[in-house]
Parts: sequence; C-alpha cells; structure tokens
Amino acid sequence: MAKHWLWAAASLTLSLTATSAQAAPDLNAANARLTALLDKNYPVLDALYRDLHQNPELGMQEVRTAGILAQHLRKAGFTVTEKVGGTGVVGVLKNGDGPTILVRADMDALPMEEKTGLPYASKARATYEGKDVPVMHACGHDTHVAYLIGVAQALAAMRDSWSGTVVLIGQPAEETLKGARAMLDDGLLTRFPRPDFGFAAHVTNLPVGSVAIKAGASSAASDSYSIIFHGRGGHGSMPAATIDPIPIAARFVTDVQTVISREKDPAAFGVLTIGAINAGSAPNIIPDSAEVKANLRSHTPEVRELLKTGTARAAKAAAMMGKAPEPTITYLGGTGALVNDESMAAAGAAALKPVFGNGLLFAPASVPPMSASEDFSEFVDAGVPSLFFGIGGYDPKTLADLKAKGQPVPTNHSPFFAPQAEPAIRGAVSAIVLSIIGGVRPAAK
Ligand SMILES: [Zn+2]
Ligand SMILES: [Zn+2]
Repeated sequence: MAKHWLWAAASLTLSLTATSAQAAPDLNAANARLTALLDKNYPVLDALYRDLHQNPELGMQEVRTAGILAQHLRKAGFTVTEKVGGTGVVGVLKNGDGPTILVRADMDALPMEEKTGLPYASKARATYEGKDVPVMHACGHDTHVAYLIGVAQALAAMRDSWSGTVVLIGQPAEETLKGARAMLDDGLLTRFPRPDFGFAAHVTNLPVGSVAIKAGASSAASDSYSIIFHGRGGHGSMPAATIDPIPIAARFVTDVQTVISREKDPAAFGVLTIGAINAGSAPNIIPDSAEVKANLRSHTPEVRELLKTGTARAAKAAAMMGKAPEPTITYLGGTGALVNDESMAAAGAAALKPVFGNGLLFAPASVPPMSASEDFSEFVDAGVPSLFFGIGGYDPKTLADLKAKGQPVPTNHSPFFAPQAEPAIRGAVSAIVLSIIGGVRPAAK
C-alpha cells in the first residue's frame, strides 16, 4: 500500500485550528485506566498475534482465524454470529442507551512468501486461484484481529465509561476487495443493530506512537476489468484468413493510456494499469482470442466514471480497427474511495491529541489521499460515516538506520513487512476505545 497522505501527514506541522473550537473531552483518566488494562491483557493479545502470524489464511479461507476471534469475543461477553458473508464474524455488545458503533478489523493474508526472518514467520501454504502458494500476513491484518479483541476486552471492562451498542466485525477478504460487500450482502446492516457510525484502523510503516487521521478522501477507488478480444484463429503464415486478436490487444494496451494523458484533467488523480495479458501458445498459430486485465484507480466519482467509459471505448475501438467483433468486458470487482467523515476526523484529532501528543498526525481534506484502496469504503458508502486511523508500526531507530543506509522502508505487502506488534496493537486499541469513550461521532445534521 502506497501511503502518500500518511507520509505527507508525518511532515505536516500539526494544525488543528479547525478543530480547537470543539470542546474535546478530557481522556487522560480514561487513558490511564485503559493503559493499566492493556498492561494486564497485552500478553494474551501478543500470543494471539504470533499465532495468527504463523497461521495466516487467504481471503474467504479465514476459518481458523474467524473461530479464534469468535471465541475471544464470546469470552469478552459479546453475542457472536459467525459465517456472515462467508467467514465474517459479528460480535454485539449492548450497554444501555446511545449510538450503535461499528468497529471493523480485516482478517485475511496474502499469497506470498514471508522473508522477515521473524522467529514466528509463516511457512503456511494454501490454494489460490487453483495454485499452491505460500501465505503471509504482509499487510498486518494479524495485528488487526488482535486489536479487535483488545477493543472488545476494553469496552467490556470499561462499560461505565460509555453507553450504546457496539458491533465489532471480523471482515474476510479485504485484499480482494470482496469481503465488506459480502458481509453487507449477507445482511450486516439488517440482521444486526444498524451502526450510526464506525471506526477501523490499519497498521502502517509510520513510526510507532503515530496515529494518523486523514479528513475526507483517504484511499483510492479501485476497479478491475477483464477484456477479451475475440478473433478468428488460423495459421501464422496466413494472417489474411484470420482476425488476429494479438495486435488488437497490443493496440488497446497503448491507446488506452490516452484516457489518462488526454482525457483526464491532469490535476486529478487517475492510474490505469494493465496487469495481465494472455493469448496464444505457439509462434506459428494465430489465436482465437486475447485477454487483457486492467486495474483503474481514482479518487473522485467523476474520474472513476471517465476511466471506466474510456477503457470500454478504447477496447471497442481497437476491436473495430481490427475488423473484430465487440470485445467482452467483465467487471472483476473493486471498491470506491474511502472517505472519512470530516467532522469525525476533526473531533477524533482534537480528542486524541492530548493522549498521543506529537504522535497524532492530522492531514486535512486538501492533502491528496493514497493510491492504495481499502474496502472499508463499502460500509461508508452504505451509510455508516466513519473514521479510519493509520497506526504506526515501525521503530524510529529502524527507520533512521534504513534511511542512513539508503534502503527503503518495507511497505505493507513487502515480504519484509514486520511491524512491531505491541505498539501497533495497543495504539489501535487506544485510538478506537478512547474515540468511543470520548464521544467522537459525526456532527448532527
Ligand atoms: Zn493489503
Ligand atoms: Zn491491509
């Protein structure tokens, strides 16, 4: 995950003038109590994290992970429902009158080999798209499952400090951008108390102690398409008797970039990547068809639509140029940009600033969001205004050493991504629990 705004936030001089007008509650007493509670509970969370790290599961295969999560939520006093949207878990705790609050953690790992050298590194393997692959928690979702359990334990133990209902969810398949949609389609908002607003957190390679808040758009929309160009196969020596889909696909791959360079406003963010092209088998055979897979990234609905229609038009034009029938265009899935509720971002920054001090990094809506995507946007787009935190997971000394050596810091999805679990898990629990206790919520409309 590229973290454009996160790094921009790190270098911003913190400016909370927009939020200082709001009366932020004093969370110091709650923080002292939460810190003591985490001191007591953390060893359990750490063991859990290591176990999950060593036993990662791919999206929609998170059976073991979901079982562990469900067991811990029940132990904390939550009413738990499993298998929501596949392997999703929902835990509900009612605590008197007040708003219904969603807290989400994603559970899935990635099909890649771990190279961190950690003593508890993963050696797990699984089947991914029909192939046997290594599996690694390279995006830190193991720390997320641990923080969700930490949030459950803290909210249950500190019931006298907040009131309302919390709906904690363990979401499957974030990496394929399918899990949030699957939980919504399985009745998340109708079978359970309907959340008024929500929170989530993601571990990053920011320095430990950091809690990053981005007002407004925080991640990009991502949409993937398969485009099959249909030709008529034949002998390589007799192209006139065929419709060759290979030059059609090749023309499309270069032409489609003019949607970015000539049609899109140069000031607006948009990326179009052809990540796969497959056709043919031998030098002397003209194949029947060629398949191209495209991924489109945008920050606004306007650019999202422009990239979608422009890609389809370029594909049809390339086919027409080659005297071929219309290509078959199939939507493979995606998600919209994640937009943080601006009033929650401001209220969250104001409430958490006294607790996290200079670790609280606030990026206003005017700072561009990151180019990576996050399907937490599905809940926001379904009517749950939310605040998504970026949590620091890297030791500042490690970061300084890497910088001195001119080496890059491992990002999420790197085989070397190894955040420090304790500050990441405790930071996420603190940011979310203190936001709930502190009454961080959307402005009344
Ligand atoms: Zn990821
Ligand atoms: Zn992730």
